[in-house]
Amino acid sequence: MYFPKPYPDELMGSIMIRASHHLGLSTRRFGPMLDLANWEIPSFIYPRGLARVATLCAKDASELLWEHTLFPYVVWAPHLNARKQLEVQELTDEPLTATFKLGRVFPNRLNATFFRKLCPICASEEYRDLGETYWHRNHALPGVFVCPLHQVRLHVTRIPLLKRGLLKWDVLPQETHGTASTEPADVALLSAIADASAMILRGDYSPIPHKEAFYRLGYQHECNPNGLHQFSVDFGTFFGRDFLRQIDVPLTRLTRKSWPVAMAAADRAFDLDQPQLRWILIDLFLAVRAAHA
Ligand SMILES: [Zn+2]
Repeated sequence: MYFPKPYPDELMGSIMIRASHHLGLSTRRFGPMLDLANWEIPSFIYPRGLARVATLCAKDASELLWEHTLFPYVVWAPHLNARKQLEVQELTDEPLTATFKLGRVFPNRLNATFFRKLCPICASEEYRDLGETYWHRNHALPGVFVCPLHQVRLHVTRIPLLKRGLLKWDVLPQETHGTASTEPADVALLSAIADASAMILRGDYSPIPHKEAFYRLGYQHECNPNGLHQFSVDFGTFFGRDFLRQIDVPLTRLTRKSWPVAMAAADRAFDLDQPQLRWILIDLFLAVRAAHA
């Protein structure tokens, strides 16, 4: 059966949409033809039936998993080195523990993170060079609102990223449009978040040891009893509490019991949703602070 070759960083859902386009079929008709297990509820970013799709596009299932789904991001945790074991679990349909469920990365709340995003420059270059466009993994990550390649703001569409999106919305970037948010104004900060997220996806992100930086910056020191409180306040000011709300990691209290304090002081990912994004934000904050200290 005909199946297109995946483009670099292309989401598996996007490969399937292109395949259906090339064959002149809607994904509703195309899906069942693929004979995928559990096809009823496909996900755009983390589809099931990986082994079958791998066969169709003549790729190794493992390669498809690490290069064309958000799996590497979802299973990332600081100081965790169990990638091979997790891969085996995923490829053999052995259920992963709740720690590595997609719901932790995309919690069930509504904001811009829950829509497909596209880079206008990527899209126009692809259309010019390839005659079609595709959906990128790097753009789909939570908290990412800038293209890591072009440093321009992503356009957020109204197409839901999860649920039954793939069946209902079998469109490519050139067939839709979106709007770019103007907040926050600091594109450099958004770029830093996008770069760090892309590194996590690629598997070459080096987390900062939080505890050490914490001590060095005087946030946790016997001479500074208000250090932890101050850390919360500084963190909120640095990112802006509106932005933290927008990306679904709100800073509801500016005390020593806030989530950045809990996470940084313990130097490990807590049982909170979006652990990767939270970790990136703490790292960024500590790195900028250390540079100005
Ligand atoms: Zn781009």
